[in-house]
Amino acid sequence: MARVYNFSAGPSVLPEVVLKAAAEEMLDYNGTGMSVMEMSHRSKAFEEIIQTAEQDLRDLMKIPDNYKVLFLQGGASQQFAAIPMNLMKNRVADYIITGQWAKKAYEEAKKYGKANAVASSADKTFSYIPDCSDLPISDDADYVYICHNNTIYGTTFKTLPNTKGKLLVADMSSDILSQPVNVSDYGVIYFGVQKNVGPAGVVVVIIREDLIRDDVLEGTPTMLKYKTQADADSLYNTPPCYGIYICGKVFKWVKEMGGLEAMKIHNEKKAAILYDFLDHSQLFKGTVEKKDRSLMNVPFVTGKEDLDAKFVKEATAAGFVNLKGHRSVGGMRASIYNAMPIEGVEKLVEFMKKFEEENKND
Ligand SMILES: *Cc1c(COP(=O)(O)O)cnc(C)c1O
Repeated sequence: MARVYNFSAGPSVLPEVVLKAAAEEMLDYNGTGMSVMEMSHRSKAFEEIIQTAEQDLRDLMKIPDNYKVLFLQGGASQQFAAIPMNLMKNRVADYIITGQWAKKAYEEAKKYGKANAVASSADKTFSYIPDCSDLPISDDADYVYICHNNTIYGTTFKTLPNTKGKLLVADMSSDILSQPVNVSDYGVIYFGVQKNVGPAGVVVVIIREDLIRDDVLEGTPTMLKYKTQADADSLYNTPPCYGIYICGKVFKWVKEMGGLEAMKIHNEKKAAILYDFLDHSQLFKGTVEKKDRSLMNVPFVTGKEDLDAKFVKEATAAGFVNLKGHRSVGGMRASIYNAMPIEGVEKLVEFMKKFEEENKND
């Protein structure tokens, strides 16, 4: 069995120690004589799994007591609707469009109220983060929405927008736990876990308690109402039990790695290896404005489509997989999430150097 270096944007690489521990516990979790997949979500064993997972996430992110943590289903995309349904009291919200995921959230919100695109970087294929220091925030906006890290385009917010006192809502699907976050800056943070935390099927919502209300938009399904989920501690119905269990193991792993400060240093080191190479390469170049570069998703191109394809093919054969860029962008993208070891990036850069030597005169 050979493990590859997996640069997939999601679902993506998980820590090997977590996968091994899960394999060991597959047939008998902690003396229960059954797999976590086989146990009741109301059992003592599962109760401990979900409560420990929540506590570890709270410790890692220093989540204040006046925020609830919900483990839900439906992916990040389900939240595109749940957020306006729960938060659009005035039926007005302002969206900052920095990529496809933000745009999808914006389009969805339009179904429920007046969604305004107050800034966008569509003019340059989302290769930068717009200046958000003085946006035309609506007086009656219920919230301002951002996608904190743009998985497809490889940009990230280094400074938060000036929301002029309005609530900030953030999709952190692809950079959660990659660095410390000041949770109090946000009304809601949510993330689909399959990028940086666990298997697909779980979305985590961190929401300030006063935003969990009964007076949601008329017609909001019971399941999409945060109050339903908060009142039942995420056990209103059967949650994605096995996924939550793996997330819990990853939370423990991040703690063992030293927490979010240590993760940030580790991620900066990894990203610098790749960006430094791109900045000096005669063949490859990054596609994003330097000031807005993501630590997690690194898109790059050679400038020639056939050479890009050749690179992806040869890299795959050498054990560096899922480097093809998103279908909407082309080129390549290396997603270097928490679980990508530093030697994965070092070896990728070695491989890119060799490819450059062999192909720079083509
Ligand atoms: C992948 C991704 C999504 C979509 O996630 P699903 O769980 O598939 O709905 C949304 N936002 C961001 C930033 C993503 O990276």
